[in-house]
Amino acid sequence: MCKNKWWQKARWRAFCVTAVFLLSGGVPFAYGAGTETGAYSELYGLLRVTEADYASSDVTYMLQDGEQSKTLFNKKERSFRVNRPLQISIDKKGALLVRFYSPRPIRDVVVWARLPEMRESFRLAGFKEIRPFAEIRKQLPDLKREKEFVTRSGQVVRLKVNPRDLYAKLELEIACDDPYYKQLTSSLCNWEITFGDFRGENWTPLLPAHAREAVAIALNISVMFSSGEFRNELEKYRGRLFSDNRGTVVQTDRLLKRVYTLKTLNYGRVVGVNGMAAPGGAVFGFNEWCYLSHYADDQNKAHTIFHEFAHTLGFTHEGNMTYINSFGRGWVALCEDIYTRMSLEKKLPVYSCHFLNTRQANLQS
Ligand SMILES: [Zn+2]
Repeated sequence: MCKNKWWQKARWRAFCVTAVFLLSGGVPFAYGAGTETGAYSELYGLLRVTEADYASSDVTYMLQDGEQSKTLFNKKERSFRVNRPLQISIDKKGALLVRFYSPRPIRDVVVWARLPEMRESFRLAGFKEIRPFAEIRKQLPDLKREKEFVTRSGQVVRLKVNPRDLYAKLELEIACDDPYYKQLTSSLCNWEITFGDFRGENWTPLLPAHAREAVAIALNISVMFSSGEFRNELEKYRGRLFSDNRGTVVQTDRLLKRVYTLKTLNYGRVVGVNGMAAPGGAVFGFNEWCYLSHYADDQNKAHTIFHEFAHTLGFTHEGNMTYINSFGRGWVALCEDIYTRMSLEKKLPVYSCHFLNTRQANLQS
């Protein structure tokens, strides 16, 4: 009945005694219309996440006040790539797990899925909206009963399989044309963002509110460093950035490469000093005021962020990569100027303090 070779391979390798049918017909009306009712809807496998789901126990929120330390500081539970803030996976129980590290929502997200043997992907899940810091766990359809999915070319795939076999093998791909999402994911930085439970002299535990602001800072500086505005401004500083007091010039091309290839930023919270950081970014700590006042529509103080970031790149207090001195305005001034401008022009992802509205008076000690 099916002439496609890929299908035959899939049947024997992936689905064993199960059945899969590729139909050549068009897409049923109900797929596009979203009017699934009664027994008719039981045929369709597409997982839809709608506004109603946000009122259910399927949705919780990450990095919220009261989140336990064992979760906040657990890298498996709370970490993300700065240019991949939307994480989608399938857990062992066959639930779709979504985590979105962002203070702003995105709209119209589709998750495409494909088995290695398949020629094209099929639409597994669709989200009208994914809200800030949402963590969504939603059970995928039980494929012991046959379900239909639509492929990219509009064909219908019927799946009736052992779901565990299927879900473990699926390759997932996110599609979203929301300009904000595209801005985040087109960043050239691939830093892993984590939250550190640093304690001791000058260190005190990071609160969830600081972690939310850490996400905002990470997204902002990642997009800023990847922007044309930043590269143009950096060009003006060619020959004017120095790494030591002997006047060794920092090569701007190499500097950009160091920014883009930095591996990690492990955020923490310091007291008694403005910030602390270590080469490589395994330590990236700030005083509370730094987490709150970097926005142009707040106090517009981002200098410590860029001072500490220079330390993560391996620069010391010599030259003008961390302080303004006899070498003149350097790295921090350059970054601050662009950060302010892009914040005012709404070119940063989180350009205003009002997305998160974190206020010092509301924070726990
Ligand atoms: Zn320093």
